[in-house]
Amino acid sequence: MPKIHFVDVTNRDTVQASRINLSKLQKTMVNFYLGQMGICQSEFAFPFARNEQNYARANLQLREMGALGNLLLEGWCRALVSDIAEAVTIGVKHLNVSISTSDQMITSKFGGKLDRQGVIERMTAAVTYAREHGVKTIGVNAEDASRTDLGYLVAFAQAAKDAGADRLRYCDTLGFETPVTIYRRAKAVAEQVEIPLELHCHNDLGMAVANSVAGARGAIDAGVDAYIDTSVNGLGERAGQADLLSCILAVKFAREMDDYQIGDPLNLRISAKLANYISYAFGVPIPINQPGVGENAFAHEAGIHADGALKDRRNYELYDCELLGLDLEAPPTTCRVITTGEFGGLAGFEHVYERLGITFASKKEASEILELVRYATAHNQANLTDDELRFIARYPDQVRQILTITP
Ligand SMILES: [Zn+2]
Repeated sequence: MPKIHFVDVTNRDTVQASRINLSKLQKTMVNFYLGQMGICQSEFAFPFARNEQNYARANLQLREMGALGNLLLEGWCRALVSDIAEAVTIGVKHLNVSISTSDQMITSKFGGKLDRQGVIERMTAAVTYAREHGVKTIGVNAEDASRTDLGYLVAFAQAAKDAGADRLRYCDTLGFETPVTIYRRAKAVAEQVEIPLELHCHNDLGMAVANSVAGARGAIDAGVDAYIDTSVNGLGERAGQADLLSCILAVKFAREMDDYQIGDPLNLRISAKLANYISYAFGVPIPINQPGVGENAFAHEAGIHADGALKDRRNYELYDCELLGLDLEAPPTTCRVITTGEFGGLAGFEHVYERLGITFASKKEASEILELVRYATAHNQANLTDDELRFIARYPDQVRQILTITP
């Protein structure tokens, strides 16, 4: 039976959205948590962008060293040979190459330079180049697939497969689909082309999670693997995209999902930590009603609800809060506390690390890590979290590279 895998695109789609940003160290921590959680793939970078390349190289090293678990690090490129050449140069082995396929976008974005056939030719040239240059997995992104003529989309997918692509990304770029329609269209493409599908759904009409799950069911019913693109806390372009945890919970706990299994062993106890980290790093609070990790996700007050939940939590809860690691979240420190940061000194620094159970072999080593902590705080423009401090002490050479961004 084909399976469902998750591709988290926080480090590409979310960071490109308006008004929200992550530092390169914060992006690295997202990969670190996704790896701990057992997620299949992170769309981790724009590898052709010079400001991403030190970060990308260091994360590829971290992956080699085993710091990111089995996470596949995949880069996003336009369907341009020049983008792919840059990605190959820095050693990215997994790529998604993107081009628009709807008549709306072909006409209004390419301004007559490309027609439907031209789009297929450009995509094919890009995939062929990637294949010839040792890229291991290639996803082809049909941007605006949901507004693309179905017959043309099938032809595009077939051409991608013939050129050597491993997957087709069905992009509901504008959040235009409904669960019923995306199920039907995803199933039709998968049946006719027999290529695994990625479902990439935006949330403009509030249906991103439902559409992702329905599209995945369509792919699996047609006999191919499904990959659901997600972001942490659902943040992304405009109204965002499919939330990682909501999609996982839906696949695990929704009605009649028994035949749709997740293909990777997941440790959901990282979810609360990751959701809270993303909230902190972006400076965007988690909504009180967020599935799984919102403050009210397991709260009961009304008479009938509280009474019922006390008698048996299954009266009002589909799944347990412990499953998500919520019990591991430390309460905020309000008593006297020592922190370290951009202008911290050695004594405070050593005190903080001792609390984390980390000591240094020499003053020299401690001073070197302190210096990285100072730079990392300046880089993040936020106090470092305990996990960031641990990460810096454990992987100082890679962190030094990540922090180096020079034009
Ligand atoms: Zn997107």
